[in-house]
Amino acid sequence: MKKILVVEDESVIRMVLKILLKEKGHMVHEASNGEIALSLVEKNQFDLILMDLHMPVMSGYKTIKTLREKKMDMFVVAITASMTEEDKNEALELGFDDCILKNFDDNFNNQIDQFLGRALPG
Ligand SMILES: [Mg+2]
Repeated sequence: MKKILVVEDESVIRMVLKILLKEKGHMVHEASNGEIALSLVEKNQFDLILMDLHMPVMSGYKTIKTLREKKMDMFVVAITASMTEEDKNEALELGFDDCILKNFDDNFNNQIDQFLGRALPG
């Protein structure tokens, strides 16, 4: 069981992610914006963070920048509705470890397993 934080302002998408991840036996925490995510990260050790880019109060862009400035090196994946090569490069430059599209298809579980594998220390 892994501890995963889902940061997403749309409650329906948070719910879908929560269901998919819980089905795989993971423990899921939720935040509806980056500010809430930052406060959760202060108190918890997450194996993986999935983070929307566009959110009110504090966006994913601002949040990842803040995390990396604080030298917090947990594995953080951007989740986005659409992604050009340029968008992806920008996200990686800001400090995201990877990006996935919000289509959550059959490949989703494989992607999560792959992220968790890459997130392991050492
Ligand atoms: Mg959003």
